[in-house]
Amino acid sequence: MVYEKFWSDNPLIAKNKTEIRKLEKDGLKIFEDIAHYAANGFESIPKEEWDMFKWAGLYLQRPKEAGYWMMRVVIPGGIVTYDQQIALAGIAEDYGRGVYDITTRQAIQFHWLTIEQVPDILNRLERVGMTTAGACGDITRNIIGNALAGIDHDELFDTRDVLYDVFEYFRLNEDYSNLPRKYKMSISANIHNASNAEINCLSFNPATKEMEGKTEVGFHVKVGGGLSSVPMLAEELDLFILPERTVEVAAAITTIFRDFGYREKRHRSRLKFLVADWGPEQFLEKLLEYTGPLPKKGESAVKGWNAGYFYGIHQQKQKGLHYVGVNIPVGRLTPAEVIEFAELAKNYGNGEIRYCNSQNLIIPNVSEEKLEELKRESIFERFPYQPKNFIGYSVSCTGIEYCNLALVETKNRMRSISERLDREMALDVPVRMHMVGCPNNCGQRAIAEIGLQGIKMKNQDKKMVEAFEIYVGGTLQEGGKYNEKLKGKVEAEQLYHVLKELILFFKQTKLPAETFLDF
Ligand code: SF4
Repeated sequence: MVYEKFWSDNPLIAKNKTEIRKLEKDGLKIFEDIAHYAANGFESIPKEEWDMFKWAGLYLQRPKEAGYWMMRVVIPGGIVTYDQQIALAGIAEDYGRGVYDITTRQAIQFHWLTIEQVPDILNRLERVGMTTAGACGDITRNIIGNALAGIDHDELFDTRDVLYDVFEYFRLNEDYSNLPRKYKMSISANIHNASNAEINCLSFNPATKEMEGKTEVGFHVKVGGGLSSVPMLAEELDLFILPERTVEVAAAITTIFRDFGYREKRHRSRLKFLVADWGPEQFLEKLLEYTGPLPKKGESAVKGWNAGYFYGIHQQKQKGLHYVGVNIPVGRLTPAEVIEFAELAKNYGNGEIRYCNSQNLIIPNVSEEKLEELKRESIFERFPYQPKNFIGYSVSCTGIEYCNLALVETKNRMRSISERLDREMALDVPVRMHMVGCPNNCGQRAIAEIGLQGIKMKNQDKKMVEAFEIYVGGTLQEGGKYNEKLKGKVEAEQLYHVLKELILFFKQTKLPAETFLDF
């Protein structure tokens, strides 16, 4: 058996079930079986095969035995065309019971799908040049980019081509479809760290360097960031990369992860654990074995952190064109709303929409002449481009509605708490709040000013109830600092009141314009 040779070649890797399964059958091969399973129904899928569907972007939603799937669609850099939005809205409407979620990695998620529907969904996606390959599983995930790439006053250079080159290199590439664990990349030249560099396994970040009497633009590289239950901040390597070498360097780093990353225990398999053990110097030494000599670091172009928020109407770098950054509360839309935005983008812009890792969206390329008319569109009463300070900065993971790992309900709860805070309390600064349903941190609790993490606890009547831990002070400014847990836990029913007290205390004692982070 092929995997027996693998084990003998890799004696340090324990025989764990997931690793054996991945060697017996490459994750991407699941695409070849979908038609068969669709024809024969959910019951025909062996239980051991369920997890393989992740490589096709499919997870079984809660409860697994009911046979409904969640599907994540890859959107490199978060940029979608008009045709793609119409196709996505159609899928959510026809198959996904009207649920359309923007994720914290600029991707889209559907729910309630049956295996019988999947072939048609994949065909519809393919017709508009989209894929679900690599959306989930131990593979290179959706690549985060600057949501303003190509139109951004605050970018060092346009990163779209580089990002697409890297995406194309890894797409359906079986050399990299059996990584030790999920693997997250970002590529951005936005000077405000719009891609959340420090929480990615590998990030390319804007920098300049004097080379042969010329100022070159390119990237600095960070490795080993990641959230989950053991959040770690990425470490910078002493490297400067010209844009044309990005694919080569991304491939080499991913090869190191594939070949040296830990595979013994799933919870210790992310790249961050290897980087933590090796340190950036040893990691760089290994990288240079693959790439040959590379220039050392130049000057970082990063100044501060915008957390992926682009609200308001702003001029683009192209004279006479504007973009509009819009709030989508906790990232959830209906198919009708997706179509409304698509038509708006077509009528006023070039049909394109940009999804943000803050679960919001941007309408780009609006001409000066159309701006006043656009501002009068009624959609902005529901989805404002100048949102209030709580709902505008609230992020939530999927939670117990659909997620098998969730301990509590999140999305609706986060939305209703934030909207109520906005109704009951005026504040002169936004407060970034993130809610997650378990320690896995998909909603990026660790970088929030106020992080809310769901748990279960016994209440006074000894009944098991939903509750939350509260964390404060997360940021990715200046290299980043994850938030810290406050003592105790709060019953979900009391969460709104406790948050209100906390924020009231902040409001009454803060200096003008002082943020919750600086408090
Ligand atoms: Fe599910 Fe936990 Fe991720 Fe939320 S953080 S989507 S509950 S795994």
